[in-house]
Amino acid sequence: MLLYNTLGRKKEEFTPARPGKATMYVCGITAYDFCHIGHARSAVFFDVLARRLRYLGYELIFVRNFTDVDDKIIMRANNEGRDWQEVSNTYIAAFHEDMDRLKVLRADVEPRATEYIPQIQKICAALIAAGKAYATPSGDVYFRVRAWPWYGCLSGRSPDELVAGARVTSGEEKQDPLDFALWKTAKPGEPFWESPWGKGRPGWHIECSAMSAPWLPLDIHGGGQDLIFPHHENEIAQSEAAGKVTLAKYWIHNGFVQINAEKMSKSLGNFTTIRKILESYLPETLRFFLLSKQYRRPVNFTLRGMDEAEKALHRVYSALLEAGVVLERGKWQNVDLSKDMQRKWASLSQACEDALDDDVNTAQALGQIFYQARLINRLLEDKNLRACEGGRKMLTEFVGRAIDWERQLGLFGSPPGVFLVELRDIRARRKNLDMESIADLLGQREEARAGKNFVKSDELRNKLAELGVTVRDTREGQVWDME
Ligand SMILES: [Zn+2]
Repeated sequence: MLLYNTLGRKKEEFTPARPGKATMYVCGITAYDFCHIGHARSAVFFDVLARRLRYLGYELIFVRNFTDVDDKIIMRANNEGRDWQEVSNTYIAAFHEDMDRLKVLRADVEPRATEYIPQIQKICAALIAAGKAYATPSGDVYFRVRAWPWYGCLSGRSPDELVAGARVTSGEEKQDPLDFALWKTAKPGEPFWESPWGKGRPGWHIECSAMSAPWLPLDIHGGGQDLIFPHHENEIAQSEAAGKVTLAKYWIHNGFVQINAEKMSKSLGNFTTIRKILESYLPETLRFFLLSKQYRRPVNFTLRGMDEAEKALHRVYSALLEAGVVLERGKWQNVDLSKDMQRKWASLSQACEDALDDDVNTAQALGQIFYQARLINRLLEDKNLRACEGGRKMLTEFVGRAIDWERQLGLFGSPPGVFLVELRDIRARRKNLDMESIADLLGQREEARAGKNFVKSDELRNKLAELGVTVRDTREGQVWDME
């Protein structure tokens, strides 16, 4: 499998340090608010990467941390008159709720910064002893950037370039404006831990160096592109200067989410939480939408894009449902499909695998799945093809592949009938349709049909169509759906 390594800026064959085993550390959230769509993108992508590695047979240890003490958490707690731990616990629980709905599997290890205070202090002490860090008279500890010659290896920003933009805020006792905090003296009223440098709390970057330490060397270290600098650059400097080991071999970063082409950022005020989006769309629709772009590219979040994702899901699930129905009824003639059809069918499945092997290109993989659904629809529309032995094979494979897609992508794993009803209902809710009046119209139509009053039944069908409701008559009675 090829992965794009930010360190080196090229695709590289994934070769873990220990054959058959893989370790992956992904920087998690700072728990001070509900997760927005940017968090969803990162979580869904790394979930797919984890699923893919397991699918390929790697024994994976996946670590994703929580930052549970931080300025923003403390500020929120103070503003709301709550305890800071209550704030972080609330939003960690909310993270789990949202991600469970998105079928993002829990990480194997989910450490919290506050559980690693002794380890954090140990790294600080080791860095001070090695001359790579220093404590100030007021009890802050800073990393000495100039003492680490490889600083900038990940982001490509050299200290000399950085120095122009660096500032020392008044009150800071940095020896060099480039230096960054490892340990901060607690201000009055802030949470603190005792340390050799006085009462204080960890800086942000150091916590990941401590929480990843039990799993070194990491095969994969990941996060959003916004973490490349300074967070990941600083992590490398701290971990490697303290331990003289490589922190991670592959650095994987996902792209931004933009909202209607504006960069996703809370400060811009275009804040869209996962739970808000899931009031109007199914979780699988959001997941499909996020995976429909290659993970390194920016994603532009629009409602039109979500509607398109929904249509694509509808198409694939309808094909799965119909394939299942035909397979159940099955009477098969001993005829095979054309060589052309067979070849096309086999190549689509391989193309899906190839796309995932090429830097987890879910956009292309989904495209291939979509083509498969289209080919299945062509088969289903043809009375002869759907009744032949070759058709049976193709339908069986298609239904079977859905299990693979679920394992790797977390998509298409719901029972198709159940999914399509959920999709129909959420579309109806989005249109503010009155479900009782729809049920009433459908009931009237059923009666009209039973009484063989086809004029009236057609009138009712048109009335329903005006509301965006389509009706199909099947052996089991009428089935309705939403446009
Ligand atoms: Zn981190």
